[in-house]
Amino acid sequence: MAEFSIIERYFKRTSNADVSLGIGDDSAIVTPPPSQQLVICADTLVAGRHFPLDTAPHAIGWKSVAVNLSDLAAMGAKPHSILLALSLPTVDHDWLAGFSQGLFDCCDQFGVSLIGGDTTQSSQLTISVTALGWIEQGQAITRAGAQVGDYICVSGQVGDAAFGLQHLGHALQQRLDYPTPRCQLGQQLKGLASSMIDVSDGLAQDLGHILKASNVGAKLQLDQLPLDPSLKQLDLQQAWHYALAGGDDYELCFTISPQNFKELSRQQLDVPITIIGEITQQTGLLFEYMGETCPLHVHGYQHFA
Ligand code: ADP
Ligand code: MG
Repeated sequence: MAEFSIIERYFKRTSNADVSLGIGDDSAIVTPPPSQQLVICADTLVAGRHFPLDTAPHAIGWKSVAVNLSDLAAMGAKPHSILLALSLPTVDHDWLAGFSQGLFDCCDQFGVSLIGGDTTQSSQLTISVTALGWIEQGQAITRAGAQVGDYICVSGQVGDAAFGLQHLGHALQQRLDYPTPRCQLGQQLKGLASSMIDVSDGLAQDLGHILKASNVGAKLQLDQLPLDPSLKQLDLQQAWHYALAGGDDYELCFTISPQNFKELSRQQLDVPITIIGEITQQTGLLFEYMGETCPLHVHGYQHFA
């Protein structure tokens, strides 16, 4: 089957009205809303590396979009559209049907259009998605703004996906296969959060990126980590390992002043948020458990380790 028939059959759909020209020409055309900045990111999923080889194609489609929308959410941006670069070992119609359905299900849930891409043959199944979003001029929330005294917060629960990966078939595998990008929360944090990151490589490592970019330190309260009941049943060290070093959570970790936190608490949120610590002057990441210092060494996911 020719490349064009694959695109036509599985990927060409009517775009949302805010796309000037979608799939079918040499490039797509999008008209930026007045006084908004373009926020853009890309993420690649390699079969066997970023997901188990037997992952349902529908889940792969969902996740390839969701991880990118999570990066946009982490800036406070409103997602707009994606491009898909797909490298396929063979043309497998069942796989393409499931994959494209999962991809569009995620797009539809967050009001995003697929506006273009590329389709090639390659020995390794590789899915690379580029996502575009908008934000009001100067409103993006970077990793660099954390201030001493800010609360450190995280959305949802951490460690679920890593637990799911180790216990395939458990209910938490859903959190590994179908991460929920926190698009609405990200946008609600504009003007309130001082810094933000999405948790993809483990909370400790990703919070570390905020600390480094902001040139501050942090104290985390291990007893405050939002854990699923399945993790709470584990030995503490093991639960902390999933929560702090496990990847693929796609929750938002942000810092916020106590005053702005009060303001945030007055808003309706679609996901719970938890204060898990505080930004400190002294650099480095310290852990406390029930008010006592707790020495702990955690390493997040390393792509080239
Ligand atoms: P070109 O040869 O000019 O690069 P292609 O033949 O690769 O164009 O693609 C034709 C059209 O289909 C383009 O609009 C391109 O963006 C789109 N397209 C190609 N592959 C995909 C894909 N996997 N998903 C979505 N759109 C795609
Ligand atoms: Mg091409």
